[in-house]
Amino acid sequence: MTTLASFLDCNRYLFDCVCPACEQDWPPQDHLPSKVKGLPKAAYLGKEDAVKKGLSKLATLLQGRKKNDPNGDDPDEALRFHRNLCYLSGSLLRRPHALLITAEDDLHEALRKKALS
Ligand SMILES: [Zn+2]
Repeated sequence: MTTLASFLDCNRYLFDCVCPACEQDWPPQDHLPSKVKGLPKAAYLGKEDAVKKGLSKLATLLQGRKKNDPNGDDPDEALRFHRNLCYLSGSLLRRPHALLITAEDDLHEALRKKALS
C-alpha cells in the first residue's frame, strides 16, 4: 500500500518531514475510515457517553451535507454548516479519518466562496 506520506510526496523537498502523516506512516486518504459509527474505541476522542451523543449529532449534521454545498447560493449558511461539521467531527474523531480531510476541504471552499461574495 502507498502511504499518505509517499502519496503526498512529502520528501521531495529533501528534508525529513515531521508531519503526523509522515511520522506515523498514515495510509492514503482512500484507505482511511470514512464511516463514523462502529469504529474501534481508539478511533474516537473523549469519553464513551460524550462520543455516543456527539456521533448522533454528527449523523444528523451529515444528512444535511448534500444541500449545504460549500459553493452553494448562501455563503453564510454554507460557512456556518461546514464550520460546525469541522468542529464536531474534529472533536469526536481521532486522525487520520477521511471525514476530517473532506470536512476541512469543504470548510476551506466555503471560506473561499464567502471571501469572494
Ligand atoms: Zn509529511
